[in-house]
Amino acid sequence: MSIKQNLHTIQSSLPEGVRLVAVSKTKSVEEILEAYQAGQRDFGENKIQEMHGKWEALPKDIQWHMIGHVQRNKVKYMAPYVALVHGVDSLKLLREIDKRAGQNGRVISCLLQVHIAQEESKFGFDATELEAMIQSEEFGKLTHVKIAGFMGMATFTENQEQVRAEFRSLKALFNQWQARLPDLQILSMGMSGDYKIAVAEGSTMVRIGSSIFGARDNH
Ligand SMILES: *Cc1c(COP(=O)(O)O)cnc(C)c1O
Repeated sequence: MSIKQNLHTIQSSLPEGVRLVAVSKTKSVEEILEAYQAGQRDFGENKIQEMHGKWEALPKDIQWHMIGHVQRNKVKYMAPYVALVHGVDSLKLLREIDKRAGQNGRVISCLLQVHIAQEESKFGFDATELEAMIQSEEFGKLTHVKIAGFMGMATFTENQEQVRAEFRSLKALFNQWQARLPDLQILSMGMSGDYKIAVAEGSTMVRIGSSIFGARDNH
């Protein structure tokens, strides 16, 4: 199947209101262009340097999503153009994004990453940490970031009921916080292997790579 066909198949399986981010990490400019020519405009990368090179080479109406763990010292490179930062997992990082957004005369939309998986390796806030940060005086002073939603990754497991329960817990937390954070609209959850469950549990944004572009060489 071609990239175009894969995109079409996935798009037509998504309910209205669920946005597809094509995860293009490790993929070439040519492959991204193929998706672009099929109408795709949202692309996700997990390394700032790699995203930057692609941003320079590709059409400027692409919306670039930073979906990976962000190193603070690299925020300045993406601040002029990044559309959405999915993996915000500390106040320190948020402060750096706020500062660099200000320098560029922008307000950068961010998603707070929430830890829902049982695996230790996944980044993110738990419910208590989220509460503490959002309540903090410093958080209230940030003016160049918009907290547009939450992002989460489920455990990598065959156990679909576990995955479902993890997504469900994130959706519940999202609903709870929506009452207090008016800009909260995006719930980014679901990848190639689990996006159907995520969508059933209320995802509004899926991040899909290998089902569009084929398997990556993981190293
Ligand atoms: C790589 C990646 C994806 C896409 O994974 P696929 O299984 O290829 O769909 C989604 N989200 C994040 C955070 C990723 O790093």
